Amino acid sequence: MKKILICLSAFLIGQEEYDVDWETVAKIREEGFQRSEISNTLSYMTDVLGARLTNSEDMRRAQGWAVKEMKRIGLTNIEIEPFMDYGYSWDNQYFSIHMIEPDYQTMVGYPIAHTPGINGRQKLTVVRTQIKTKADLEKYRGKLRGKAILATPPPKIDQERYRNGTPRYTDEQLKEISEKPFPKAPRGPRPPVNPDLVSSEERNTFFKNEGVSVILESKSGWIAAVRGFARPGAKKDKWDRKGTVEHLPIVAITPEHYNRMIRIVDRDIQVKIEVEIKTKIGKNRRKARNVLGEIVGSDKKDEIVMLGAHFDTWHASPNASDNTSGVAVMLEAMRILKAVNIQPRRTIRIALWSGEEQGLHGSREYVNKHFGNPNDPEVGQKDGYENFSAYFNQDYGPGQYRGIYLQDNEHVRKAFTSWMKPFDDLGMTTIGSQSVGSTDHIPFDRAGLPAFQFLQDRVGGTGGHTNLDFYDTIPIEDIKKNAVIVASFIYHTAMLDEPLPRKLKLNVNRRIK
Ligand SMILES: [Zn+2]
Repeated sequence: MKKILICLSAFLIGQEEYDVDWETVAKIREEGFQRSEISNTLSYMTDVLGARLTNSEDMRRAQGWAVKEMKRIGLTNIEIEPFMDYGYSWDNQYFSIHMIEPDYQTMVGYPIAHTPGINGRQKLTVVRTQIKTKADLEKYRGKLRGKAILATPPPKIDQERYRNGTPRYTDEQLKEISEKPFPKAPRGPRPPVNPDLVSSEERNTFFKNEGVSVILESKSGWIAAVRGFARPGAKKDKWDRKGTVEHLPIVAITPEHYNRMIRIVDRDIQVKIEVEIKTKIGKNRRKARNVLGEIVGSDKKDEIVMLGAHFDTWHASPNASDNTSGVAVMLEAMRILKAVNIQPRRTIRIALWSGEEQGLHGSREYVNKHFGNPNDPEVGQKDGYENFSAYFNQDYGPGQYRGIYLQDNEHVRKAFTSWMKPFDDLGMTTIGSQSVGSTDHIPFDRAGLPAFQFLQDRVGGTGGHTNLDFYDTIPIEDIKKNAVIVASFIYHTAMLDEPLPRKLKLNVNRRIK
């Protein structure tokens, strides 16, 4: 019986021919290369809209723009769809920090998300702490009132990071990716936690109880860049107002400036800083939101092909690479498809997610609501499940597509191999069979729905959750190519007789990294 089933499904899958519609590809290439609007879109998002922390006022404003932009492109069924009881909004309104003793210097840093402001402009003495274990806390008891604390060890500066420009995958590297056929081994058990260690939450509570004024940290050695995220515990208390207001302010500082303070303090010379922080915390809990828009299909309009990228960013820069570039690519792909006036059989839907940086919340809630998950009894399978065809995501920076990962779904190899052919000249040549993470295609994949990430050149530079991720370092020619390629993949997926094949069986518990 098993044998018969396997033969039958192989026969059915084998039936579909994945031809390339070269005429439409030519139109897509012409529109995307001769009349590209992607640099304008990326510039608007990075320069005018700026950072878009999930659920912030910044994000609300940007989502209003996204709706207008989708209208301008000519999409229909445009919707802002709320999801989950997310939490309180948080926006930084003003920040400045200076060293005023023993030498004057402006310093570069920013408050980390979901921490409070500070009363007025304060002059504070800086103290270094070295706390790993509970016993370490005792050394500082009674000594920290009204101080600014250097709370993390000095980061080691990475001298190499920005020296290589935009590295391309070599032929050997691509060959290696294409030859890696085996799924990763399952995750082993976690090593036990040392009970003597102090978590950052416990450490910060200690600082609070000791009357500290502000916590300073520097956790990344990227030259000149500040990397800082959200207050420890923010996720646990669901971005709560009380949790934020009652926490100490935390400021992330560029490693060079942070290390300078450490070296001076270690000489027993007093360091004084002047700091001012204003933040705006929402008055009510509210839902976070995704933005969606469509090109409605024809004879198979109830079936859905999706493309998307996360619209939310960390808060200290427009995050041009992560993931404003991905959003620009997907919007441009939709614009191209409208401009060349395709008439898709299936409905094509774009999703600009929110809550990705905090744990893929937007995409997961969306999948649960519209398609469901047959592996999760709490969610169950929804009506849309069978009518879903495939989802394509971009979130590996702004580098150009060099291929696509099958996400361990061998049944799409034939289709993707065929659809890559028109882009051979752009270096789009490689199929990686493995599963990759950890972004918005994962909730689809976990539910057994075909969902894919492209294989992209990894652009180094300043990106990745820093204060330095702006328009200037984005390789515009790369993202132009990506928009053309994803438009073509989406078009071909929407025109198939049968939906893209799914994996026969789900690997529910396998680690996906
Ligand atoms: Zn991202």
